[in-house]
Amino acid sequence: MSFPWSAKNLPKQIFINNEYVESKSAKKLTLHNPKNGELIANDVALAGEQDVDEAVAAAEKAFAGWKKTSPTERRNIMNKFADLVEKNAEAIAELTRISLGAPFKAFGAFEVGLCAEAFRYNAGWIDKFGGESWPQDDGFLKIVRNEPLGVTAGVVPWNGPVGTIGLKAAPALATGNVFILKPSEKTPFSSLALGTLIKEAGFPPGVFQILPGDGSTGALLASHMRIRKVSFTGSIATGKKIQEMAAKSNLKRVTLELGGKSPAVVFDDCNLENAVTWTANAITANTGQVCFAASRVYVQEGIYDKFIEKYKEAMQAKAKEVGDPDSEGTNIGPLVDEAQFKRVSGFIERGQQGQGKLLVGGQRIGDKGYYIEPTVFTDVDPESEIHCEEIFGPVSVVKSFKTEEEIMKLSNDTNFGLMAGVFTQDINKALRVASDFESGMVGVNCVSLMFMVSPFGGSKESGLGRECGIHALRAFTEPKTIMVNMNY
Ligand code: NAD
Repeated sequence: MSFPWSAKNLPKQIFINNEYVESKSAKKLTLHNPKNGELIANDVALAGEQDVDEAVAAAEKAFAGWKKTSPTERRNIMNKFADLVEKNAEAIAELTRISLGAPFKAFGAFEVGLCAEAFRYNAGWIDKFGGESWPQDDGFLKIVRNEPLGVTAGVVPWNGPVGTIGLKAAPALATGNVFILKPSEKTPFSSLALGTLIKEAGFPPGVFQILPGDGSTGALLASHMRIRKVSFTGSIATGKKIQEMAAKSNLKRVTLELGGKSPAVVFDDCNLENAVTWTANAITANTGQVCFAASRVYVQEGIYDKFIEKYKEAMQAKAKEVGDPDSEGTNIGPLVDEAQFKRVSGFIERGQQGQGKLLVGGQRIGDKGYYIEPTVFTDVDPESEIHCEEIFGPVSVVKSFKTEEEIMKLSNDTNFGLMAGVFTQDINKALRVASDFESGMVGVNCVSLMFMVSPFGGSKESGLGRECGIHALRAFTEPKTIMVNMNY
């Protein structure tokens, strides 16, 4: 089967029971291309209450069969889906790019690859995610089974729309759940296009469905009485609402992957080139629209001047990589839309009014589209907005420090706790600092990275629960204890 979707033939309907159908709701989504502000479409379905109910009913119907599908067959379907995603990677990435603006080589290829890899990785777990059993010395054999939850949902953001699907749908489906995806209203096309591949891979109807929509659709899922779990990635404000809706409805399980303001601590004894490379890449990848970007860079006094010189050069070089995301040589595209552009520009403008000193960047690039220069502030007030809040653009703050004690206090003086990085060649210091960071993930001589095999997620207000590794499978299952009376 050939892949029918492209920028010229956009998927716009909801995907229920393995068919593209019109939504019952009359509301529509409107999308613009961030590279020039031009209208892409104003007739993309926005799933309403009836659509959500129909998808849940189809999912419930499919659950019993999917749960009992043999591990081999489930694995084969998931692997085939991964192959199909990979085969159509360029077309899928284009469907993200038209409304996100992320260049293929620098981001699109990685993101679609992450989705395929997540399906393969979790498919590999299906026949290895065993339960437990405990001795019968007391006369009772205890068997613990990992039971799927039933109908589960994923509500995802726009900044990594296809990769996030892999991190949620793959462990859900691998463990025998059925799954409803709600893509972001800013990036619906690549998600919707997956419907064709879901069907071709052999997922039975109702097992894996897609409901485009905005926050209202997300809220219907989070408060639905027959959905047993919502896995959410997005902002802290929305994450809190999701948890509240989950609690007020049926106490459905919740995983939350939220925002960050991640520190990178650069000590005098680090490899300077390495520290500059990682920190500059971290804040400019995907135009800084990355939850775990190192956006607070703390540099020890002895190396501060040298670091600043090199970091400034690196960011100036990055500015030259900004451009049309459809052009081959571009590594950094525009911000996602006008709202995000205004948000980031607002931080930069206010930042210059006494919060810190503008070292480099700060300007819009061109006069159409939402391009912005990679921007760095130094000498920032630790209480200021640019130092404390997630900007979600290519904007970092740099601050010098004297002692480890002082900088660990400042690093942890935040409600965020997603990622942190430490740059030093002293292994004892690296491990001490790594242990002192209040964050879900820490890089040593690296920062802002993730792996499929190890837990991904935040502490404090950056999240609840973990994705990736065995943790993702646990998050989509519940242990059931069966007690067998051996004396009977
Ligand atoms: P957002 O919270 O605005 O939206 C995320 C999703 O939630 C979208 O699909 C949206 O339609 C939906 N939504 C909005 N309001 C809702 C409501 N009331 N009920 C249910 N669903 C609702 O976030 P965003 O702007 O799309 O993404 C940016 C944020 O996501 C940043 O804060 C970023 O740090 C975070 N993020 C975190 C991770 C992570 O893994 N920790 C990864 C990527 C992005």
